[in-house]
Amino acid sequence: MKLWKASRLADNHGTANGSGAAQAATPWHALDLEQIVALLSTDADHGLSKAESEARLAEYGPNIITAAKGPSWFRRLAAQLNQALVLILIAAGAVTAALKEWVDAGVIFGVVIINAIVGYLQESKAVKAIEALSRAITIEATVVREGQRFRLPAAQLVPGDLVVLQAGDKVPADIRLTYSRDLRVDESALTGESLPVDKQLTPLSEDTPLADRTNMVYATTLVTAGQGEGIVVATGDRTEVGRISQLIASAHEIKTPLTRKIAQFSKLVLYAILALAVVTFIIGVVRGQPWVDMFIAAVALAVGAIPEGLPAAVTITLAIGVSRMARRRAIIRKLPAVETLGSTTVICTDKTGTLTQNQMTVVQIVTPGTPDKPKIYHVTGSGYSPEGQIIEQALESLGTAAAQSSTDSSPARNLALEETIRAGALCNDASLYLEEGSWRISGDPTEGALLVAACKAGMCQEDLLHQTPRVDTLPFESQHQYMATLHRFAHSPDTRVAYIKGAVEKVVARCAWQMTPDGSLTAFLDSEKSAVEHLTAQMAREGLRVLAFARKDLPAYTEEITHREVDDGLVFLGLQAMIDPPRQEAKEAIRTCHTAGIHVKMITGDHALTAAAIARILGLHDPRCATPTEIKVATGADLATLTDEELAKVADETYVFARVTPEQKLRLVTALQSQDHVVAMTGDGVNDGPALRQADIGIAMGIAGTEVAKEAADMILTDDNFATIEAAVEEGRGVFDNLKKFITWTLPTNLGEGLVIMAAIFAGVALPILPVQILWINMTTAVLLGLGLAFESKEPGIMERAPRDPKAPILDRVLVGRIVIVGALLLAAAFGLYEYAERTGHSLAEARTVANNVFVFGELFYLFNCRSLSLASWRTGLRGNRVLVGGVAVMIGLQLLYTYLPAMNTLFQTAPLPVKTWARILAASFAIHLIIEAEKAVRRRLGQNRRSPAAC
Ligand code: ATP
Repeated sequence: MKLWKASRLADNHGTANGSGAAQAATPWHALDLEQIVALLSTDADHGLSKAESEARLAEYGPNIITAAKGPSWFRRLAAQLNQALVLILIAAGAVTAALKEWVDAGVIFGVVIINAIVGYLQESKAVKAIEALSRAITIEATVVREGQRFRLPAAQLVPGDLVVLQAGDKVPADIRLTYSRDLRVDESALTGESLPVDKQLTPLSEDTPLADRTNMVYATTLVTAGQGEGIVVATGDRTEVGRISQLIASAHEIKTPLTRKIAQFSKLVLYAILALAVVTFIIGVVRGQPWVDMFIAAVALAVGAIPEGLPAAVTITLAIGVSRMARRRAIIRKLPAVETLGSTTVICTDKTGTLTQNQMTVVQIVTPGTPDKPKIYHVTGSGYSPEGQIIEQALESLGTAAAQSSTDSSPARNLALEETIRAGALCNDASLYLEEGSWRISGDPTEGALLVAACKAGMCQEDLLHQTPRVDTLPFESQHQYMATLHRFAHSPDTRVAYIKGAVEKVVARCAWQMTPDGSLTAFLDSEKSAVEHLTAQMAREGLRVLAFARKDLPAYTEEITHREVDDGLVFLGLQAMIDPPRQEAKEAIRTCHTAGIHVKMITGDHALTAAAIARILGLHDPRCATPTEIKVATGADLATLTDEELAKVADETYVFARVTPEQKLRLVTALQSQDHVVAMTGDGVNDGPALRQADIGIAMGIAGTEVAKEAADMILTDDNFATIEAAVEEGRGVFDNLKKFITWTLPTNLGEGLVIMAAIFAGVALPILPVQILWINMTTAVLLGLGLAFESKEPGIMERAPRDPKAPILDRVLVGRIVIVGALLLAAAFGLYEYAERTGHSLAEARTVANNVFVFGELFYLFNCRSLSLASWRTGLRGNRVLVGGVAVMIGLQLLYTYLPAMNTLFQTAPLPVKTWARILAASFAIHLIIEAEKAVRRRLGQNRRSPAAC
């Protein structure tokens, strides 16, 4: 008891680290169970009381690890200064100051500081948006309190809590194990050990290093197999991982392949421009121009031509995309997925819950009858309400029971039926409860449906468990396709019984006997097994999900159930068939994917015929075919016989894969990728990790998915719905469009400014725009105009184009051509009007102000060209993007101040302009807009002529 008190004291008075040291000092791995229970004042069977857990939560705080603080704001701000362009500016500012051009030097330094602040704010906003999303994903834990199991947010765990672990869970705190059943844990995140570690219970010596403490499991590690139970010994920052919280700090990387590519591109341009600036300087000086003028010209060239805003704009556009996806229920875990989504060519999706509603209802039960005539029951009622009847019906009406059942409402007692229902309720981890007047389930909906059916038969789980308490469980795993539980009889201790439920072929193959209606057992002949499979096929063809049930009596000493106990000699009890209606929105989303050139493939663990029936309803077929073709199904057994080359072909041509194991999912992803597909793949199980990681976009289910699957995924669906994947792809395409729009908009300014400077040097005239003026133009337009493009909504028809080729350059020939045209037009307009102003008696300051305004208004009108890269600008409307319109209004206001405010005139060497000069500036700028619209119109016409019909 002393130790417990000591650690409490340390917790209350120490810092997180101090208390961590106190708890870490307790060698939990070296103590035996009794000592741990005593130290933590808990109960190894019933857990804490609710009151005690609340008190401890108040005392210890939530079980959350504080992420390590990143670099301070000052360092992050300073990092903004460490950019090539900024360094050039600082050098230029220093030289300008040395030349005693105090105003210019002041403006340059002012711009450097403002630029750093704007960059810092934008980056912080992007990082914050992405981090907020990672917090939106909460981890849950199964905890036992007062002898009852609960699913709780892991944040509510306290020291002393009794926690239940199973394959797929993320360990929610540091836990000393009290029970381990083949428990294996992936501790690589903590210890670096790549192989999962087998866990056991024996106390270890005190000096055992962390990686070898096999009787402990640590927060954030992943359970890859088996089951376990244990007592929480440390939570939050007092856990091992909390004490080295840098592990958590790297929450989100804001760099992606695309941002890296763009950063590289910017760097390349930077070096090219610097070289050009040096050459210009040298040529000018050699040609006899004053070196000071040439220095200013070289600086102007560098400042104007370097696309410094590009990397930040890309990050911000991606961050906005991430928030938009979150609003549509797709949480991005890894930023590169935002880019990849737009190029997805195949979506491989689960069936249950993703394409279907996962609201199962048992509608038929079949039990052995006479050899050629099984007994078939129709189950009435809907949803999870336990109101309904189980009515025997004639064989002929199988599958269309509601319409034509010839029923007998008072059938003779059928013990096989009772046993089938009992097996369904006992071999079951779900629970059914009434909340706010409606019936709900917690756990697997398949199991929930079985509980509802049992209640309809008057056999509620609670009573059954009272009569036959559960001793052990063999949990359901996708690769085995069945689950088994071991029970003892409360009133007859001499036997144990195992109940098994699972995929029909798996269960039936293990049965040697079958139960007849009077409860006697007869041999289960191969012909009868075939008849059961035939019946299953008949029900599956109607889209029903069919499960088989069996039991086996075992000796009283049996304490554990393993695959060996249920491998053979089972007694077949019957079948239960349930409906799981397809999601209407999935059908529409699939159609949208087809028009977008995306193939949708179903990869399910369910029966081939059930899968095919659902696929038919949803319209899953080759999108290249105008009319649906016959649905071909490949089963896991088929795939197992194929070589990699054969599989690649089958994977490409088949749209439904059934009875597929997680390992085969991995093979399928690789096969599709070998056909140059960009693959998005869903997964929820503990073994889906490798396939999710291999896929270009791994998608985990937020509701039904295991923590292991979520950990491996790039994206998590908070509603487990296929339509959300389609929405995310749509957003992904929109993000990429907006990036292209920004780049196509921003580069011509750099080009135009660079060309104007060079033209002036080669023509031997004064610079039409000065370095500080260029800084003004670039900074204000990038923030006020360019950023608005990141908020542009998706264009109509975005899902009618083919997926983007990930190998294609970001800008195609058309856009490069457009950038060159606009750059040249800006040169012509700015230089032309500058020269005109000079020659018509305007001052140099006025002429420069004209050139400045041509750039700003040219960009402003061109911005409206860029709102759609192909559609006419009038089609995008003004109201759709308030950020952009607001930015334009502020920009116009600022530009008027820049031109007319005396202080601005002094700072930037500008001068007020007469009204008629504005007419020329606006006319020239608008002409650029019109020319680009004409170019877009011509391209649209050419594009229409080239469009070829879809091939099947
Ligand atoms: P999907 O892969 O589309 O989610 P699924 O749920 O059918 O579909 P799995 O979870 O791999 O895929 O299940 C495979 C088969 O195992 C099911 O068709 C069913 O026969 C059986 N099964 C599913 N859930 C359970 C369960 N809780 N207990 C026993 N058997 C189950």
